[in-house]
Amino acid sequence: MSGTDMKLVVVGAAGRMGQTLVRTINAMPGATVFAAVERPGSAFIGRDAGEIAGLGPTGVVITDKPLEAFVEAEGVLDFTSPAASVEFSGLAAQARIVHVIGTTGCSVDDETKFRAAARHARIVKSGNMSLGVNLLGVLTQQAARALGPENWDIEILEMHHKHKVDAPSGTALLLGEAAARGRDIGLAEHSVRVRDGHTGARVAGTIGFATLRGGSVIGEHSVILAGEGEQVTLSHSATDRAIFARGAVTAALWARSQKPGFYSMLDVLGLS
Ligand code: NAD
Repeated sequence: MSGTDMKLVVVGAAGRMGQTLVRTINAMPGATVFAAVERPGSAFIGRDAGEIAGLGPTGVVITDKPLEAFVEAEGVLDFTSPAASVEFSGLAAQARIVHVIGTTGCSVDDETKFRAAARHARIVKSGNMSLGVNLLGVLTQQAARALGPENWDIEILEMHHKHKVDAPSGTALLLGEAAARGRDIGLAEHSVRVRDGHTGARVAGTIGFATLRGGSVIGEHSVILAGEGEQVTLSHSATDRAIFARGAVTAALWARSQKPGFYSMLDVLGLS
């Protein structure tokens, strides 16, 4: 660790992404795991975060006192649950630090609270922190603009592991937003999230979602643009959670020198 390393708190440190973050920060220059936080009552409180992540002891003991950790730190990496992320954004605002939010399944009300916290915190939030998916979003926007709604139907298909609790995935929604932007429409008014029974014919201009769950799949996404007699498919496969963790650390390092505000990975990657 060097004196200029960014001091990061990993919240949800015992989770799938939390453990990946601890390993990734350890391997990346420019940042250090300053503290690790889990939910009150977790069996991991008092345990060494490095040991839980498979690195061996690192001297960072998991606590359930986020504010104590935040006030001494420079940034928080957060892949937890919507309620926890709302709480952490308020604490990050109090501590005036960077808050990188990867949590998905957040409501419109949650988003309003994140934006309020961004008056004092530097918040970067994205349904997917990987470079590949954010590039796929840009390509989806271009394709949706070029292939208009009269002749081309857009469907977004995703598959994730059996433990995932929200649907469609944050990434599927990110890609849906990109397609909607390409067509200058709002996603909420044009999306079809579920089909079951006698649905009637497809309504032109809608953006459909289909969700698969099973096994240990980290993340598979396809944007299918279906025309008369031809089909274009843009897709991304995640084979290692480290792509999200590296993106989150990159976002924290980028946000370190920004003003308080609400940013996305497109800002971080220069794709906006
Ligand atoms: P997980 O269930 O394995 O881990 C979540 C962890 O958060 C758990 O250990 C839990 O105890 C902890 N937690 C919950 N409430 C807490 C609180 N109040 N304080 C501290 N810790 C708390 O889940 P996961 O697979 O790691 O995914 C977590 C989230 O990240 C999900 O919403 C998932 O969809 C999202 N995700 C986003 C990206 C992205 O790139 N944006 C990538 C992967 C996963």
